[in-house]
Amino acid sequence: MLLTDFHVHSTFSDGKLTIPELVDLYGSHGFGAIAITDHLCEEKTVIGKASAYLGCTLTRETFDDYIQTIDAEAERALRQYGMLVLPGYELTKNSVLNHRSAHIVALGVRKFISADQRPTELARQIREQGGLSIAAHPVWTRAIERQTYFLWDRREELCSEFDAWEVASGGFLFEEVAKTKLPKIANSDLHHPRHLRSWKTLVESEKHPQAVLQAIRKQKVRFRFFQPTLAQPPAPLRRAGSQTAAAAPLAALQAQGARIPLVVNY
Ligand code: ZN
Ligand code: ZN
Repeated sequence: MLLTDFHVHSTFSDGKLTIPELVDLYGSHGFGAIAITDHLCEEKTVIGKASAYLGCTLTRETFDDYIQTIDAEAERALRQYGMLVLPGYELTKNSVLNHRSAHIVALGVRKFISADQRPTELARQIREQGGLSIAAHPVWTRAIERQTYFLWDRREELCSEFDAWEVASGGFLFEEVAKTKLPKIANSDLHHPRHLRSWKTLVESEKHPQAVLQAIRKQKVRFRFFQPTLAQPPAPLRRAGSQTAAAAPLAALQAQGARIPLVVNY
């Protein structure tokens, strides 16, 4: 089983760590595979333009450098830590309305896609590149922040377009997602090293990019709350996560007899 995290931000968007620093963070904690998934915002909307102005998103200008940096660090990660690093990004459609916002993690892709398209078209173009389309934090994230409900509102019509839905983001497991038959994945949405303490996915796969993607498609996955054993900053989780925060939804799930393969590792 590979310990993985496929939703990670770097300084190419709004993350605190550079890609080399992320490789060292995850590599030193024994991860088998990660993906770098910086925001790629819409180019034509006011919010998207503001994100570009503030340097919080990949752009057409920074995109090649981004992919080249991931490729170079992927080589080092494999050599130094035996860890896979997959390319990706988070197609970010932000609106002032939560029900119009959608974030889609594109995993295993290396060509630019414009986020100024309908989510179904984005998912289609991700798959055309051989990647996975993942509905990021589709339900209430239990944090005071803008929410992204567009995909969840349409989950029945979109279920065949997306390869996985995040059943956990950061410190919180989403019981609404866990209870469904939708394909699932748990990621940290890491922006700061303290977010390493969060839900992760164990993937039953060989250590090869295509094998990992296929294992997620086939749902050869289990979910685990990861507690870093190495020295980490003591600051609380961004999403006010705590053992209680992680355990509460779990207890609710168990009470409902939810059939979700969980490994809890406090
Ligand atoms: Zn997001
Ligand atoms: Zn994110």
